Amino acid sequence: MKTTKSARLFKKAMRLIPGGVNSPVRAFSSVGRSPVFIEKARGSRLWDVDGNQYIDYVGSWGPMILGHAHPQILRAVKKAADRGTSFGAATEREVEMAELISTVMPSIEMVRMVNSGTEATMSAIRLARAFTGRDKIIKFEGCYHGHADSFLIKAGSGAMTLGVPDSPGVPSAIGNATLTARYNDLASFENLLAAHPGQIAGLIVEPVVGNMGCVPPSKGFLEGLRSLCTKHGIVFIMDEVMTGFRVALGGAQHLYGVKPDLTTLGKIIGGGLPVGAYGGNKEIMKLVAPSGPMYQAGTLSGNPLAMAAGIEMIQLLSGKKSIYVQLEKKSARLESGLQFVIDKHHLPLTQNRVGSMFTLFFTKERVVDYETAKTSDTKKFASYFSAMLEQGIYLAPSQFEAAFMSAAHSDQDIDRTIRAAEKALLATFS
Ligand SMILES: *Cc1c(COP(=O)(O)O)cnc(C)c1O
Repeated sequence: MKTTKSARLFKKAMRLIPGGVNSPVRAFSSVGRSPVFIEKARGSRLWDVDGNQYIDYVGSWGPMILGHAHPQILRAVKKAADRGTSFGAATEREVEMAELISTVMPSIEMVRMVNSGTEATMSAIRLARAFTGRDKIIKFEGCYHGHADSFLIKAGSGAMTLGVPDSPGVPSAIGNATLTARYNDLASFENLLAAHPGQIAGLIVEPVVGNMGCVPPSKGFLEGLRSLCTKHGIVFIMDEVMTGFRVALGGAQHLYGVKPDLTTLGKIIGGGLPVGAYGGNKEIMKLVAPSGPMYQAGTLSGNPLAMAAGIEMIQLLSGKKSIYVQLEKKSARLESGLQFVIDKHHLPLTQNRVGSMFTLFFTKERVVDYETAKTSDTKKFASYFSAMLEQGIYLAPSQFEAAFMSAAHSDQDIDRTIRAAEKALLATFS
């Protein structure tokens, strides 16, 4: 595999950009390599600057559910761009987007557009505090909710990979207002409620975790959180930045039939452009400025290019509900192919999957939370990652990430991936 140009770019990037990348998860340091620089993408494929071609399972970390460079989304963006790239004023598209979102996710009665998942979650938590007049929030160990101060406590994938569970630079007063419970462990949540009576403003959860690798909620977990939040007057926030439009069109809240008070969205909702959103119960959302006193704003929020891409994406996804049936079939094909390899060679591996989100964990243990995710052998993962990359399969460069199937992956892509995985695993465990 030729990497001359990527290596040259990375050397220069290291001088100019911290770690050479604009988001830590893009670095290949934890897998002992330097990153490949991407030149273009189409469908299920990526091409790097050295001309290597890959079958992509990162999908820009989730947004590319229809594959890269989808012609209808490209057309919508180009058409919007011809009319101007930003107005900083109200547009029809924003109303259309709000209507689409609340149709797809009925728990969202009102919605505010922002520019990233991080903005969505940090605004939702401010809103929960404004609504309840309380300060503390609860999150789960290993869940990632963007990089705002309140959430960088046992914050999942990026931090887990770098071995820094809590970031410096977060004021202790803010850090201390964030309490952490164990995912899939209702008792640990109840213990926090008992220890801090009347002090919890909001609970935020990844309804299916993607950010310690894929970890599904155990039976009754989300329902239990819902009823405890109702009982204690706590705003229940489902962070569906990853799961929204991914595990089902209506997100995890539709899949599991549990209704949050607020929902945060990102990734797929922007069709590959920088977008986030938060919304939910009207009574709570009415507190947001200028309708209410909780301040939150954005120069580029509801940007016309981003709205065009997002609207086209959601319309494509809602127009053909069979997309989710296809995604399930493709993902199941990959999962069962890999499981055949695992069983045939008696490999100490565990798979987790919900729809088109999945992770192959390098541990024999069943992975249900942060502690069990951490039993994974990250050295073995690094070896597997490299062997896959060399065979033209692009995976996230960390054990603690979910992989994504897109509608553009063909059965041939998937079968090639399974053959590559068998070779990579045999080399890793030889
Ligand atoms: C990616 C992600 C975020 C952060 O979104 P950004 O757009 O990267 O700021 C928040 N929550 C979850 C669950 C995510 O997967």
